Amino acid sequence: MVSRVIPVDPFDLVIFGGTGDLARRKILPGLFRRFCAGQIPENSRIIAAARSEMDDDGYRDLAREAIEEFGRKKGRDKKAVKAFLKHLYYVPVDAKGEGGWKQLKERLRDDDDVVRAFYFSVGPSLFSDLAEGLQVNGLSHRDVRIVVEKPFGHDLESARELNEELAKHFHEDQIYRIDHYLGKETVQNLMAVRFGNMLFEPLWNAQYVDHIQITVSETVGVGGRGSYYDNAGAMRDMVQNHLMQLLCLIAMEPPARFEADAVRDEKLKVIRALDPVDPDQIVRGQYTSDGQMPSYREDAENPTSKTESYIALKCYISNWRWANTPFYLRTGKRLNAQASEIAVVFKDAPHSIFGIDAGRHRNVLSIRLQPNEGMTLGVTIKEPGPGGMRLVDVPLDMSFAEALGPEAEEAADAYERLIMDVIRGNQTLFMRGDEVEAAWAWTDPLIEGWERRGDSPKPYDAGSGGPDDAAFLINRDGRRWRRIQT
Ligand code: NAP
Repeated sequence: MVSRVIPVDPFDLVIFGGTGDLARRKILPGLFRRFCAGQIPENSRIIAAARSEMDDDGYRDLAREAIEEFGRKKGRDKKAVKAFLKHLYYVPVDAKGEGGWKQLKERLRDDDDVVRAFYFSVGPSLFSDLAEGLQVNGLSHRDVRIVVEKPFGHDLESARELNEELAKHFHEDQIYRIDHYLGKETVQNLMAVRFGNMLFEPLWNAQYVDHIQITVSETVGVGGRGSYYDNAGAMRDMVQNHLMQLLCLIAMEPPARFEADAVRDEKLKVIRALDPVDPDQIVRGQYTSDGQMPSYREDAENPTSKTESYIALKCYISNWRWANTPFYLRTGKRLNAQASEIAVVFKDAPHSIFGIDAGRHRNVLSIRLQPNEGMTLGVTIKEPGPGGMRLVDVPLDMSFAEALGPEAEEAADAYERLIMDVIRGNQTLFMRGDEVEAAWAWTDPLIEGWERRGDSPKPYDAGSGGPDDAAFLINRDGRRWRRIQT
């Protein structure tokens, strides 16, 4: 298969927080890969900005080390790295102060053919300062784009305030709220599979789907991010954004076109159709030490913390397509597997002509986000050999790396793909302001509920599958969580 790299216009991309963890771990290695793919035009500039005093050469050293530490090894050679580094510049700027803006402006080109984008890779408390700073210091114009990292607000009120702050300086079509889950290859493939095939869409509803499971399981704890996480918890950190976005893509109606507002209108309708969740349909957990790994409270340095590091819940979407179809969501830290999966579990055949001895079988479409991105459709066939008609489930496996060859393995990482979308001016895979607010409007009452009641999360052992009550949440409906493949 021939790789097709769609060129983008020349750009000036400013990374505020260009010395930070996200820039070093994801943004710089991602941009380097786009450079190697030939997608970064020769006359493009990547300008990092932060408070630290440093010159261009100092920043290029930092970037080289980041690419060596966090970039993929394949295809990386010193010559390519050196050529890439020539695109990088550094300007000391304090988002909260006056220093550095003039110098930053001088580094930018006033040329209608050069796209200008600012990536806010800094803590959320600086988003408004940066938006204002760009305006006040004359770095903004009608075509400028800003990329805003997560978390987008802490609740509905703060998200609204932030939307209003940004709207003072930018139009909605200039604001790119990033959720890197939407940049994943499989997530986009989910839309291709749903809307590019005749096979699935007729069955994609309450009549044929028994239930849907969305799982994001992490083995890492919160070490390092403890103070942020302890104020957030799994609901704010994962469910309100990442799991909600996955749920939207699974549940939305076909948009008329694969275009930003058409897709985002459909996602918004899903969020608005979500029912409130009863407290007995939510299980919150917090990991305890297994004797080797520290407990959540030790990681968060808060010995009395009631923040959840795990959450499982059952929710319903009240619309024609999904009425009475449960969506089971779960996510947590320090679990026994690092894996993310969406599973669409279809209903049993209405009548088994093979009798009960043949076994009860269901088709499951599993969409794996990690590891080994791909999709598997479980189909029922006859167990081979003599001995009567016994049924067995076999996977029709479509691992992208196997099906599409090395090109799939080389597929762009979520961040690099999304940054290129910003340069192209394509907002389809970014959250719109009203979507984010609707997601908070759904999560806020759930959080307020357990805070008001003073609920404590259920303890679970670090390295386990999560709290026992999470199994009960689904087992009492006669269903079970899928085993997570690692
Ligand atoms: P970080 O490691 O703490 O980096 C923060 C960056 O902001 C540094 O470059 C810092 O450099 C700069 N900075 C701090 N105060 C500044 C100011 N007043 N003016 C200008 N620059 C300032 O944070 P991070 O982990 O990279 O996260 C950045 C954003 O991405 C956050 O919103 C975070 O929630 C989000 N995010 C991060 C990850 C991740 O994997 N790290 C994942 C998802 C989302 P100086 O100290 O030199 O100013």
